[in-house]
Amino acid sequence: MTQTIIRSDRKRIPLSEPLLAGNEKLYIDECIDTNFVSSVGAFVVRFEQAVAEFAQTRHGVAVVNGTAALHTALIVAGVQADDEVLVSDLTFVAPANAVRYVGAWPVFIDAEPRYFQMDAGLAVDFLERNCVWRAGELKNRHTGRRVRAILPVHILGHPVDLEPILEMARKYDLAVIEDATESLGSKYRGSMVGSLGQQGVFSFNGNKIITTGGGGMIVTNDESAAKRAKYLTTQAKDDPIEYVHNEIGYNYRLTNILAALGVAQMEHLPRFIERKREIARTYAEALADTPGVRIMGEADWAFSNFWLYTVLVDEARFGRDSRSLMRELGNNRIESRPLWCPMHMLPIYSKAQVIGGSVAESLYRDALSLPCSVSVSDEDIGTVVESLRQ
Ligand SMILES: *Cc1c(COP(=O)(O)O)cnc(C)c1O
Repeated sequence: MTQTIIRSDRKRIPLSEPLLAGNEKLYIDECIDTNFVSSVGAFVVRFEQAVAEFAQTRHGVAVVNGTAALHTALIVAGVQADDEVLVSDLTFVAPANAVRYVGAWPVFIDAEPRYFQMDAGLAVDFLERNCVWRAGELKNRHTGRRVRAILPVHILGHPVDLEPILEMARKYDLAVIEDATESLGSKYRGSMVGSLGQQGVFSFNGNKIITTGGGGMIVTNDESAAKRAKYLTTQAKDDPIEYVHNEIGYNYRLTNILAALGVAQMEHLPRFIERKREIARTYAEALADTPGVRIMGEADWAFSNFWLYTVLVDEARFGRDSRSLMRELGNNRIESRPLWCPMHMLPIYSKAQVIGGSVAESLYRDALSLPCSVSVSDEDIGTVVESLRQ
């Protein structure tokens, strides 16, 4: 029996918190001093350029959050009501919800067990066997609906194996929208994630690798897609003087103040990625011979930003399950979290089609994300490891 000792004397070790220690204040002061606090201003343009350049894309369109970016990207990709979109089963809910915002339906693709990403083989299998190409459109045999796009989510910082997915997209004229909200700076076979699909989406929520408090961006090499994303996210103004709108637009703009935060954060991004990778190495070394704990891997074709360091807990070998470990760590003032409930298990998506699903379920059962803020000290990581081993 292990004794539960509540270590309330020690400071809490959070899962992932922002680090705002550079020019953030200076740039926000500049917004206030110049009175450019709203949605027009130099920092918006600078932030768009900085992220687009970093992601090796030609264009960036800043928006109010990552979910709005996904919603916009789906409209720009031409996804319409009653179309279908392939989405990762193991993900935060935002991409599935964005598919519903346009009236389309998600088809969930299970995760693969090694890197927890959308199983590209399963996606290919579904498209080749469960769909039929008819009159220039790909139809799902089961539902009769048109399959229009694929939305792979690069979860936790590790890229999805994109090559087979991109090949299917070319073959069947499908749009690929990369949900790279957790993976800014990660690379797939040497290319930045977000730059490989028709559009890529980033989030700058407080828990992401860089933050604007809340914010998002669409990146693309397609100039007309970028123009259309800008148009739709700024209320679809066809004549801004006479207030003429030919389409239903959205107010999804990012303010200059938040973009100022983003510009300052971008100055630190390379260092943040380095630190995240260092944290991952430290955990991997320290936990290598802990029975029943599987450390997070990186495919040989991948460069992960290791945004959220996640281990798998094998209850039989470790002696307790992930949730009881989470509670125990919590008693030691260490924050940890399971992965997301797979989409096909959510009541709101219980009627959606799911291809596979058992891998996502077992990852949901076993996974636990550990403290990995860029500001976490090596000493704190040592505390987490020690606490986990006890
Ligand atoms: C954070 C996140 C989003 C949404 O970003 P917000 O900026 O919070 O709207 C979308 N998809 C995934 C996988 C995320 O982790």
